[in-house]
Amino acid sequence: MPEPLLQVDAIDAFYGDFQALFGVSLSVETGQVVAVIGANGAGKSTLLKSIAGLMPPRHGEIVFDGHNVAGAPAFDVVKRGIALVPEGRRLFPSLSVEENLLIGGQSKRPGPWSLQRIYALFPVLAERRHLPATSLSGGQQQMCAIGRALMSNPRLLLCDEISLGLAPIIVRDIYARLPDIVGEGLSVVIVEQDIVQALRAASQVYCLQEGRVALEGAAKSLTRERISAAYFGV
Ligand code: ATP
Repeated sequence: MPEPLLQVDAIDAFYGDFQALFGVSLSVETGQVVAVIGANGAGKSTLLKSIAGLMPPRHGEIVFDGHNVAGAPAFDVVKRGIALVPEGRRLFPSLSVEENLLIGGQSKRPGPWSLQRIYALFPVLAERRHLPATSLSGGQQQMCAIGRALMSNPRLLLCDEISLGLAPIIVRDIYARLPDIVGEGLSVVIVEQDIVQALRAASQVYCLQEGRVALEGAAKSLTRERISAAYFGV
C-alpha cells in the first residue's frame, strides 16, 4: 500500500483551556474525496484549520506528503500544497473577482491551475471578473472561493461547508465540478452538514461527535442508522 497523501494522527486541539479535538485521526489517499460530517460544534472546522496551519494541534502529527506539518505556519502549508476554502468564503470584499483569484496564486506553486483554467471551470466568474466580489451571488462567491484556493495549485483541497446558505440546485451545480478538480490529481476533504451530499461526493466518510471520530467507513458501506447514531450520539 502506498503512503496516504495526508495522515492525521491522534491530534488534540484546544481553544485556550477548551479541548475541541480528542485524538482525531484521518487519512486521505491521492485522488480521494473524503467527507467529514457531524453536528454543529463537533469539531469539523477545527480539524480543517489544524490541517491548514491555522490552529496548531497540541499533540499528534499531521503528515502531508511525508512531512510533519503540524504547527507549521499557514503560508508554509499552502506552499507544500494544502489549500483551504474557509467557512463563509472570506473573499476580499473591496477587490474584484479576478483580484481575489490572483491572491490565491501568490504561493507560485507550479501546476495546472491558472485564471483561464478557473474560468473554464466556472464560466460565470469570467463574465464577472472585473466586478467586486461582493456583487456575486452566494453560489458565485463560493465558486470564487474555490477558484482562489485552486490558484495555489494544491494537491489537497480542504472545503468547509460548501453548501451553507445555498439553494440545493446551486449546491448540486458546484458539486458537479468536483470530478474536474479531482481529475487534475487533487485530493479533497469536504466538511458538510448536508449528509446526503457528503455521501454522494465522497468515497470515505468520517463522522465527528464532540471532538472525537465516532464513525469512519466507506460511504457505500454506511447505513442511515449507523450515521444517525454517530451524528446525534444516540
Ligand atoms: P459548525 O458546523 O458549527 O462550524 P464544527 O463541527 O465546525 O461546527 P468547530 O467550529 O470546529 O465545530 O467547533 C468545535 C468546538 O470548538 C465547539 O464547541 C466550538 O464552540 C468551539 N470553538 C470553535 N471556535 C472557537 C473559538 N474561536 N474559541 C473558543 N471555542 C471555539
